[in-house]
Amino acid sequence: ILGFEVDTINSVQLSNHTGYKYWKGQILDAEELGEIFDGLKLNHLQRYTHLLTGYVGCVSFLGKVLEVVKELKEKNPDLMYVCDPVMGDNGKMYVPEDLLPVYRDQLTPLADIVTPNQFEAELLTGIKIKTRSDVVRAMEVLHMRGIPTVVISSTELGSDNVLVALGSSNKNGKKIQVQLEIPQLPAVFTGTGDLFTALLLAWMTRTQHDLKVACEKTVNTLQDVLKKTYAHAKEMCGSEDKFNSELLELKLIQSREFIENPTTHIEACIV
Ligand code: ATP
Ligand code: MG
Ligand code: MG
Repeated sequence: ILGFEVDTINSVQLSNHTGYKYWKGQILDAEELGEIFDGLKLNHLQRYTHLLTGYVGCVSFLGKVLEVVKELKEKNPDLMYVCDPVMGDNGKMYVPEDLLPVYRDQLTPLADIVTPNQFEAELLTGIKIKTRSDVVRAMEVLHMRGIPTVVISSTELGSDNVLVALGSSNKNGKKIQVQLEIPQLPAVFTGTGDLFTALLLAWMTRTQHDLKVACEKTVNTLQDVLKKTYAHAKEMCGSEDKFNSELLELKLIQSREFIENPTTHIEACIV
């Protein structure tokens, strides 16, 4: 919708997302990812402008991703790599622990943008986040590793029912930090992190790296999509305590005009 022609590699093909009680299907392994990449190479199809990586469930696969990132960057040194270091949430890791050193020491230093949540930022930096200055320090540590843009999609620094997102960019000596306060809807959604990262890639590109505008577009689009999703669930079952995964499937297609033009107006402040 935002004007990117996307080639997707499905690292998993599942019956449904993992927020449901059961899921079944296949998980791609490192060798299978290698085969797909070999196919692209045979046709000289490795000149990509952008690369986004998300959930990876085992260390051998992550090692292959690392190889792919290096090769694609070699083919196009201007490639924008957006790494979502998906490892866990709310104090718990949901991937094997041996992924952490690969993300920390090898993969994220190659990224142009990283989008950890609060817990993932803590894992990557070893800094326990309790205050805003902890977040700023954590983002600094990531910049020192060579990552120009860091956006923490949500932290618990806000008051009740408010999520705080923070972004920091340190590129060619130009520094900017932004903060957004996001009203929290009383529901647990799945896929919001993925949507956040994809939107940020698109808007950072479309705004020529204007961190403030890109974060605003991203967060406002999410609000629109989640408000629409929430309203649908409410209409179908009336009460929040009856919400379930099926009712809360993100209403992406129904939100396509908001994806083009978000209508919510949460503003980022420069901090
Ligand atoms: P996931 O759990 O899907 O991997 P994540 O932890 O990576 O997600 P979050 O920071 O939880 O990512 O969510 C990404 C964005 O989604 C937030 O910045 C916020 O804009 C939006 N969001 C998620 N949940 C809610 C909610 N309950 N109410 C309002 N906004 C939400
Ligand atoms: Mg989360
Ligand atoms: Mg995430």
